Amino acid sequence: MQKIHTVLSMERQAWKWRRAGVRVALVPTMGYLHQGHLSLVQKARSSVGPKGRVVVSIYVNPTQFAPGEDLSKYPRDLKRDLALCRAAGVDAVFAPRDGQMYEGGESLETGGQAFSTHVVEHCLSQSMEGKSRPTHFRGVTTVVAKLFHLVQPEVSVFGAKDFQQAAVIRRMVRDLNFPLQVLVAPTFREKDGLAMSSRNKFLSDSERAQAVVLFQALQWASACVRQSPRRASFLKNRVQKILAQAPLARLDYVAFFDPLTLVPKPKVAPGDQMALAVFFGRTRLIDNRRL
Ligand code: AMP
Repeated sequence: MQKIHTVLSMERQAWKWRRAGVRVALVPTMGYLHQGHLSLVQKARSSVGPKGRVVVSIYVNPTQFAPGEDLSKYPRDLKRDLALCRAAGVDAVFAPRDGQMYEGGESLETGGQAFSTHVVEHCLSQSMEGKSRPTHFRGVTTVVAKLFHLVQPEVSVFGAKDFQQAAVIRRMVRDLNFPLQVLVAPTFREKDGLAMSSRNKFLSDSERAQAVVLFQALQWASACVRQSPRRASFLKNRVQKILAQAPLARLDYVAFFDPLTLVPKPKVAPGDQMALAVFFGRTRLIDNRRL
């Protein structure tokens, strides 16, 4: 397995693959890998086949964190990530060193020679995560666009766990004509239903036990809507009651929307999407499902 730590060596390798006609699949991550990430790797492999190359990028992208969010505390363990990637049959890990991705500085306020170009999706990124974290998607689309240029994949795999993110990336790929296909892999869950996430490690034992409430709320809403379509206000009210049974949980948002346009649905029916974000202390968890 190749370990690539600079932008220049990544670009060179991508051009070599391209000249040789090798199919390349990219799985962008922020590291601290778990089974959910590895399921994306498997999907990437089945998409490009044994002769293709699966690249995992590992980069805790500073521009998608707002000041005061958990950038400095975000879990990191590159050694362990590399071992997991090797065992999963990854061909190359692109883990750019600090200073590689944002030439001139990662702070957006340094002026002068600082990095100053962004990719912004204006429609799908307004609601939910975009509302709670206003600069988040600008950071995501910018770094993913850079990764697409550097790695030149023909396929890139994202997780349904970050449903809105996948929709925003799909829109960016369509709108800006990136010559690649976006695949989305299902959410990988713990036995009790909690969606796997690098941030789960921050949960205390009691928070971890109560975190299953996100999954329970999704399951309840799904069963409820399958009986008959319901008003979103009714569902939101009931979801708040379900969450109240977990005293450590604090709801950030719950939303019911069209899975393609992300437009909110006042009346919710099977096939619509539900998403929610819940704080446990300072840890913010998100989850979603098709109803
Ligand atoms: P992250 O490292 O959290 O930025 O995630 C990198 C990619 O892995 C994103 O496309 C996520 O949607 C995906 N991912 C994270 N957790 C899961 C999960 N539990 N199941 C499936 N995909 C996931």
